[in-house]
Amino acid sequence: MSLEERARRQTALDEAAGVVDRCRKCGIGATRTHSVYGEGDPCAQLMVVGEGPGETEDKLGRPFVGRAGELLDRMLLAIGLPREDVFICNTVKCRPTLDLGNRLGNRPPTPDEMRNCRPYLDQQIEIIRPRVILALGAPAAKSFMGEKFSITRQRGQWFDGPMATPIMATFHPAYILRMTGGAMAEVKKLVWNDLKAVRARLDEPPPEPVAAPRQHSLFE
Ligand code: URA
Repeated sequence: MSLEERARRQTALDEAAGVVDRCRKCGIGATRTHSVYGEGDPCAQLMVVGEGPGETEDKLGRPFVGRAGELLDRMLLAIGLPREDVFICNTVKCRPTLDLGNRLGNRPPTPDEMRNCRPYLDQQIEIIRPRVILALGAPAAKSFMGEKFSITRQRGQWFDGPMATPIMATFHPAYILRMTGGAMAEVKKLVWNDLKAVRARLDEPPPEPVAAPRQHSLFE
């Protein structure tokens, strides 16, 4: 990737992050501390899409920086991808919260919030054009593959994502962290298989660019 192209993509992402920061399409746009646009390599081969920012992400304005993020970093490193080589973002860019009386808790984004935020996610995919998208957890997977998607039955399978990008879903690292004992070992095994399939897909030679059809002039 040329330096010019890298700079062009970074500028496009920075501009889009500014738009997201000013967005107030949903109520959570007013309650969040920071918008969490996403971060990583603008030329990343892999885009990871989670559900939505949690408390730590909201505080720091960065995706996956809490406990689930630490596990995600280890999962990515296990397939040879340092965090900075990947682009990491979420289906929604503001923290969906739940008033628990004395504090705010996290909750999954509503379908309306995901719909409002979708153009920003699609734009990220258009700018970065990753070779593979990995969706983490059921809400992220359903936002791409539809409401009927079952994370337990269909994780690890390939689907066609936006811009015909191959997409796979696996369990969310926060889900793995909630498991204990044998159940955790079992889930980790499944996720490891999914990650190896992502690695294998990235190791395939990139598809040949489609040549534009040759234009014949009237005088040929
Ligand atoms: N969980 C998510 O889905 N996204 C984050 O950014 C952090 C935790």
